Amino acid sequence: MKALTYIEIGRFDVTEKAKPVISAATDAVVKVTMSSICTSDLHIKHGSVPRAVPGITVGHEMVGVVESVGDAVTKVRPGDRVAVNVETFCGECFFCRHGWVNNCTDPNGGWALGCRIDGGQTEFVRVPFADNGLTVIPDNVSDEQALFVGDILATGYWAAKISEIGQGDTVLIIGAGPTGLCTLQCVRLYNPKRIIVCEKDAARQDFVKRHYPDVVIVSPEDCLTGTLQLSEHGGADRVIEVAGAEDTFQLAWQAARPNAIVTVVALYDQPQVLPLPDMYGKNLTFKTGGVDGCDCGEILRLISEGKIDTTPLITHTFPFSQIEEAYNLFENRRDNVIKVAITSN
Ligand SMILES: [Zn+2]
Ligand SMILES: [Zn+2]
Repeated sequence: MKALTYIEIGRFDVTEKAKPVISAATDAVVKVTMSSICTSDLHIKHGSVPRAVPGITVGHEMVGVVESVGDAVTKVRPGDRVAVNVETFCGECFFCRHGWVNNCTDPNGGWALGCRIDGGQTEFVRVPFADNGLTVIPDNVSDEQALFVGDILATGYWAAKISEIGQGDTVLIIGAGPTGLCTLQCVRLYNPKRIIVCEKDAARQDFVKRHYPDVVIVSPEDCLTGTLQLSEHGGADRVIEVAGAEDTFQLAWQAARPNAIVTVVALYDQPQVLPLPDMYGKNLTFKTGGVDGCDCGEILRLISEGKIDTTPLITHTFPFSQIEEAYNLFENRRDNVIKVAITSN
C-alpha cells in the first residue's frame, strides 16, 4: 500500500509499505477512508518533534472502517465505521485512571500514531488499545463531520472543558486557526455571556463573522483595549490561548481579569516569559498543555445532535494520489485554506 512517510527532516515521500497486521490482542487494523493534515505533521517535517521516528507513516487525524481486531478487543468489530483518537492510551495506569490520558505511561501511550508508530496518511493503520482509541461513528454522522473528532476537535473540547466556563462569563479565544475554530464551537456549548475571538488574518476573521455572527472579532492590536471595554471586571473571565504566536501568551494573561482562568493550549516555538512580578496580585490560574483526548464518544454525540459541526473547516479535498499537492497548499496557507480532507482514492 502507499503511505506518506517521514524520510528525514524536511522530507516526506510516498513510499510502498506492507499492509499492517494485528500484533497485540488489543490492536485493531483500520481501513482509512478519510484523513487530514495537521500543523503537527508540519512540525514533524520541520524537525520540531524530536521524538518523531524517521520511516514512520505520518498522519494522526483520520476516520475509517475496522478491518480486523485482536482477540481482546470488545468495543469495535470489523465493519464498524470509527473515529481514530490521536492518542493511544492503556486505560489502566495511574494517569489514565484519572482521565489524564495524554500522560499514559505505556510505551505506546500519548501521541504515538503518525509520530512514533505508523499513522494514517495511507490505506490501513494499526491502532493499539483499539477499545480506547476507536469510537464508533453514529449512522447520521458523516466521515467529514467526524474527521476532527480525535485530534483538533478533541483539543477544543478539552480546552473549553478545563476552562470552567460559566454562563455569565466573557471568554476570549486567541487564535482562529483550525484548533481555535474547534475551541470556539466547544466554548459555545457552555453558553457564555460573550465570546471574543482575537485573530490577525482577514480571511479567518471573515470566516468567524460569517459562521458565528454573535462572536466579537478583534485583531491582536485591538485585543487588549477591546476586551477591557467589553468586560465588566477589568478583563476576560476566561482566556483560551490557542495561537502560539510571538506575543500571544503575554496578551493572554494581560487580557484576563483578576482571578481569571487562562488556558494555554498553544504549542510555542520559543520559550515564554512568565513575568510574575507584573502579575502579582492578579491571582490568575493557568492551565496548560496537551489534550487529554478521551471524550470522543461525547463529542460524536454532540455532532449527531447537531450541536457541533466542523465541516465548514474543510475548505479543500484531495484524493490520496495528490497528497503532496495537499501538503503544499496547507503548508503555504494558499487559497485561504483552513483544513484539507484526504480521501482514500
Ligand atoms: Zn494534530
Ligand atoms: Zn495509561
